[in-house]
Amino acid sequence: MIVVIRPGTPRAQIDEVIAEVQKLGYDPRPIFGTEQTVIAAIGDERTHHTLESLTVMPQVERVLPVQKKHKLVSRESHPANSTVNVDGVVIGGEKFCVMAGPCSVESEEQLMTTAEAVKAAGATILRGGAYKPRTSPYEFQGLGKDGLALLAKAKERTGLKIITELLSENHVEHVAEVADIFQIGARNAQNFQLIIAAAKTGKPVMLKRGLSERIDEWLLAGEYLLAHGNANLMFCERGIRTFETYTRNTLDLAAVAIVKKESHLPIIVDPSQGCGRADLVRMMCRGAVALGADGLLIEVHPNPAEALSDGQQQIDFAGFGKLMAELKPFLAAAGRTL
Ligand code: PEP
Ligand code: MN
Repeated sequence: MIVVIRPGTPRAQIDEVIAEVQKLGYDPRPIFGTEQTVIAAIGDERTHHTLESLTVMPQVERVLPVQKKHKLVSRESHPANSTVNVDGVVIGGEKFCVMAGPCSVESEEQLMTTAEAVKAAGATILRGGAYKPRTSPYEFQGLGKDGLALLAKAKERTGLKIITELLSENHVEHVAEVADIFQIGARNAQNFQLIIAAAKTGKPVMLKRGLSERIDEWLLAGEYLLAHGNANLMFCERGIRTFETYTRNTLDLAAVAIVKKESHLPIIVDPSQGCGRADLVRMMCRGAVALGADGLLIEVHPNPAEALSDGQQQIDFAGFGKLMAELKPFLAAAGRTL
């Protein structure tokens, strides 16, 4: 870290700061300028006490961190891409992964027909929320355990792997019986206790970006999973809240490119929550492929107009089939296969 001393500070007060830096475990290297003095504090910022608290000393103007706080998720610690193996489906390698299914599990017929349709079109993972984080308490909250039982049935029938949301620490055990991947949603993106609880199961986790979460915060939330011994992490960009009203969220495709640079872990794009508009899903999927995303999470419903949640952004079976067929040349151009 760099500690910047206020101009004109007498030497004795600079020495006080130097002593404090040393006390906190860093090797202080002062650089005395004619106007201004800075102290380079040598030491691993991620394992030492942060020096930011030194700004309470009146002679300290600023403290600037020079190291990134995330370590295990960063590409520096693991230069090659890492992959997540979901019971035989490898995410993050040459194969591109499509996860598709309804926003919410609503009924046996809805889920089974959707599972068959997305499988036929090339998806390998079935999505479906059994526990739904709804903005209003009066909206459909999901079928809970009954929804999980339907997901288990769909898995048995189709062989598709299952991704479903882990909404609460209290659900870890029974959701783990069905889920091959835990989805941690935007509203829980910084629920660190939930992330730790998911980490302890050793199961793959897809960590969505929070509604107003910066990329550095998102990477650090992911760091929790790895720091707790679970490296089966993938990030998911699902749009952030901005001033724009044409879309429900602003799908931040730049974040895909940035996460790819910053981290070795796979990144998935969710164009459904990302724009909140069924008519944009196909185009956003192409963009995601071109940017090097490792997979997509797409909401598909037999009849979006009758969906119990997120009807405006779900696509029907024909739309999904078309999307998948049209994606092929984009995948080929990106060096990926389905
Ligand atoms: C969802 O995938 O249906 C969902 C609720 O996602 P998010 O947490 O991104 O809003
Ligand atoms: Mn949804």
